[in-house]
Formats: sequence, structure tokens, C-alpha cells
Amino acid sequence: MWLLVAMCLTCLMLCSQGQDRASLQRSSDNDGRCQYTFTVDSPAEASCPGVHGGPELEGIRSRLTLLEALVSRLVGGERAEAEGGLQESCSPGEKNQLLQDKEQLDRQVQELQRRVDEMSLEAETLRQRPCHQPQAPGGPLQELNQRTDSASDNGSYQEMKAEVTEVPASRLIPESAQNFTGCGDLVSVGEPVLHRKADGITGKYGVWLQDPEALVPPYTNKTVWRIDTVGKDVRQLFAYEDKEQFARGFPMKVLVLPEPVESTGATLYRGSFYYQRRRSRTLLRYDLASESLAARLDLPHAGFHGQHPYSWGGYTDIDLAVDEQGLWAIYSTSKAKGAIVLSRLDPDSLEVRKTWETNIRKNTVANAFMVCGRLYTVASYTALNTTINHVFDTATGEGRAIAVPFRNRYRYNSMVDYNHAQRKLYAWDNFHMITYDVRLGRASSTSAV
Ligand code: CA
Repeated sequence: MWLLVAMCLTCLMLCSQGQDRASLQRSSDNDGRCQYTFTVDSPAEASCPGVHGGPELEGIRSRLTLLEALVSRLVGGERAEAEGGLQESCSPGEKNQLLQDKEQLDRQVQELQRRVDEMSLEAETLRQRPCHQPQAPGGPLQELNQRTDSASDNGSYQEMKAEVTEVPASRLIPESAQNFTGCGDLVSVGEPVLHRKADGITGKYGVWLQDPEALVPPYTNKTVWRIDTVGKDVRQLFAYEDKEQFARGFPMKVLVLPEPVESTGATLYRGSFYYQRRRSRTLLRYDLASESLAARLDLPHAGFHGQHPYSWGGYTDIDLAVDEQGLWAIYSTSKAKGAIVLSRLDPDSLEVRKTWETNIRKNTVANAFMVCGRLYTVASYTALNTTINHVFDTATGEGRAIAVPFRNRYRYNSMVDYNHAQRKLYAWDNFHMITYDVRLGRASSTSAV
């Protein structure tokens, strides 16, 4: 506070004209209150001409009155008002300094906000870490209750309570819909479940999958496949025996592909790995058992290497997908002018069997996948709470807008693919390899918008 008082005095003295010397004295009166005495020497007169003085003295008195009022407000705690008075009486240079200080503080606030966001993300990661507790005899719900009871003893009740309250939410789905195992509309997508977090920078984005219809030993539908797609010459395909080995981190085998992979649109089907060759519209079928290329074909007119990517970018021009009906390619062409084109492919030869053109702009959606012959698109790859926002049905050739909630827990979702055997979506979200349970229902159960 006294620093502000001193600055005010300095300003006042600098702003005064015709005054060479000034001083301020403080002393206590008989009641113990602080008194201020402001003295200015006159350059023209050696002594006072009268009790009331001349215009100069009147001017000094008026300035002193202003100063006393300012000091009084400061002493009285009216700091904000005093600072306003300070700004009015300060020079442009001092105002600039104050503005610079304010900008620096704003930057510090922004930096702190960024760190808070990072810590929030890390907290979410810790929450998702698998808990290796033994299965309770009464099943998952009883186990949760037991864990809740024990947690309340050690102070972590709040977090455990949050975990419990999430479980009944899925039970809002009618029992008839939960038991529905046939093909149908996408009704809901569950919360993301974390299986593995990449530990290197090359794991920022990639592809991880299981073959829904694995046919050829030694691989099964439990085998987990993974490719880190960061880099210019991506060829390593990691194979893990099952999800447990995948979670531990060491592959049982590493296959080296004969040609490099483009982006995150690869998929697996019936013992083959399907992918787009880097910087081309060439599709390749790699036979996993023989470890050799089994088919190669250009996808007619398909844009590639940044011509028609998803909103995420990343050369996601050609996205391959598998569902109950077979193998699909999701892409666009110059003729379609960026709208999503959908082709059903022969899984052996890669030839196009049939093509549909939608009115969904490919670069306005984050990703897409197929379920039961229907194309679904994800609205955003960064928004924490986004939606599945379009469906296109190849049976009718018609599409419509929908709004099925979808969560990007780690805020950078670069791959989303459906596995009909597991009835899950597989996704790679900012180093995190996750799955989502999906629920299907009979037609018209999704909420059209
Ligand atoms: Ca996809």
C-alpha cells in the first residue's frame, strides 16, 4: 500500500509545474492518528505574504487536499478506487508498464490453466488403470460394493462412489435391447475402456485390432494386432497372444510388411491384414499365415495422401472397415467432390463389388466405421463429449442425421473401427488403446435429429 502512496506522491510532484522542491512529513497527533504534512518551497518569495497566501498557495492546498483524500482512501482499504486515481494521475509510460505487467499475469494464468488441463487428463488416465483385484464370489456388482465399503475406510470414498454410480447408468438400456444379438441400428456406445497406453512418441496414433473371423492358425480371434503409424516408413506389425499379453507389453511376434502403411485405416479379416500402401490408392492384402502379399489393387478414383482425409487429417483418405457383411472401403473421389464414397470389396481379390455415394462431407467428420451394412460417422476427434452424427444404410441407399453420444476421453481419437465378433469399437485415442461396448437394436431406436 505504501508503495502506491509513494508512487502517487511521485506522480503528483512530477505533474506539478513551477515547483522545485517538495516534501512530505508524517507525525501522530494527540489522539494517535497519523497526520501528513506536505511542504513546497516557493521559487519567488522567501516568506509568506499573508495568512491566506496567493494563488500558488491555493493551488498547493487544493493538490494537498486531493492527496490527503487519496491517502485516506488507501488507508481505509479502498484500494481499487485508489488504483483508479493512480492510473488517472500517472504518465503514459507508467500506464504502459502496468499494461505489460497485466499481460504477463494473463500469460501466467493461461499457463496455469494449461497445466490444470494436463493434470486433469493424467487423473483420468489413473482412473482408467486396470485394477487387478480378485473376482468376488458374488460377481462384479458385489465386488464393487465390497470395494466401496473398504474404500470408505481409507478416505478415497469419493472416487469409488463415482465408479459405482457409473455402473447402473448402462442399465438404463431396456433388457430387451441388451439381449439383442442380431443386426440392427446403433443404439448406444459405452464408456471407453483402456487396454494399453503407448510408451513412446511413435504411439501417438496407430491401429490396433483383433480379427473377428480368424481362420488360420497360429492366430485366433484372441490375437491382438498393433501398428504404430507415426513415421514415414511404417512396416512393423506387432502380434500379441491375447489382451493380457498386449496389456503387459511384449509381442509374441513382429511381422515386417513388404510395403509401407499409410495412416490409420488398416483392418483385419479372415486371416488377412488389409491396408493402403503409402502415398498411393493401392490396397494390399497381406496373408498373416504365409507372411506374404496375397492381393493388390488400386481403388478406382480414390483420393489419397491428403486429398480427402477426415477432419483429423493424417492422410486418412482411405479407411478400410469390416462388419457382419464383409470388407468395406470408406473414401472419396474428385467426382464426389469430397463426399464420402462407400465401396464393398471382395475380400479375396479386393475388387469393388458395389459403390454408394453419400452426402456426408468426409472432411467434416472425424472417423467412420461400418455396422451391419450401415456407415456411421464420428462428429469430432477432440471434443470430450461428441456424437455419432450420421448413418448411411447401404440396404436403402439413404442416410440421416443421428445423435448417439460418444466420448473422446483422451481428446485425440485417430482410429475407430468395429469388431462384430466382440461387438465393440476399437479406437486409438492419444496414445491410449481403448474399446467401447456398443448396443444394437431394432430399426428406429436411434434418435434422429
Ligand atoms: Ca475407421
